[in-house]
Amino acid sequence: MDFEEGTLYLCATPIGNLSDISMRVIDTLKEADLIAAEDTRNSIKLLNRYEIKTPMTSYHEHNKYDKAQELIRQMKEGKNIALITDAGTPAISDPGEVLVRMCHEAGIRITSLPGPCALITALTLSGMSARRFCFEGFLPAEKKERREVLKMLATETRTVILYEAPHHLKETLAQLFDAMGDRQLTICRELTKTHESSFLTTLSGAIAYYGENEPRGEYVLVIKGLDPEVQKKEEQEAWKEMPLEKHMAMYEEQGLDRKECMKRVAMDRGISKREVYQQLL
Ligand code: SAM
Repeated sequence: MDFEEGTLYLCATPIGNLSDISMRVIDTLKEADLIAAEDTRNSIKLLNRYEIKTPMTSYHEHNKYDKAQELIRQMKEGKNIALITDAGTPAISDPGEVLVRMCHEAGIRITSLPGPCALITALTLSGMSARRFCFEGFLPAEKKERREVLKMLATETRTVILYEAPHHLKETLAQLFDAMGDRQLTICRELTKTHESSFLTTLSGAIAYYGENEPRGEYVLVIKGLDPEVQKKEEQEAWKEMPLEKHMAMYEEQGLDRKECMKRVAMDRGISKREVYQQLL
């Protein structure tokens, strides 16, 4: 294989089943000068299985900035570096994202070798709309930020994909229920591993299930987006909490004539102009 000098190769590795790896990733890992791995103890199993003898160095959450500078220095000297993270596609909810950003800024060539990714595997299994989806990764740990994201997700009409660790699953399901109401979701667990499972349920059903069964393993949650019709109804109900006269006054203050105000009020509340007129009498 012809390597251009000083390139960063993002190599997707298995998310469970060690056979899920491409020939190109194996060749690249064999021929790179150095492998930067998130957890070298974990990755050694993969390297042994494919008889990859390339030296490894660690690149993880706690050294991601300093180590990135060191790796960039080596690539500038002409070394080819392959990045692998704990599992799946580098830069998806892992420190790879920082290295990629810094390489762009330093003018280092980067290429990505596609392969396993938990979010895509889960989405394909979910039975939810895969035409429009959004990936949120792990919800923020910080309380205020987390509340804001949950609030935003409550009105998201696309399919929502989240990662979660087993020891946080119950709390997250409860918070999702509080923010979004009851929703369909598919819980994908231990993908590509011996105990893989995916089941379509609801947030309330999942809360009940995990009330009796302790979560174990790795999880991806795929949640049905808010039905636009339901969203419209909710917005109309919210408008109806405002007294009709106040609603009219709001538009009148914008300088609109009375006929236009009635038209807008009717639209906001999902009622006819005639109803607005009658209620104003
Ligand atoms: N880069 C990875 C990818 O491409 O999917 C994700 C890394 S992130 C640090 C780890 C999270 O991904 C886990 O907590 C879990 O939510 C999800 N995950 C990874 N492997 C999984 C698997 N085999 N089954 C279910 N979820 C998985």
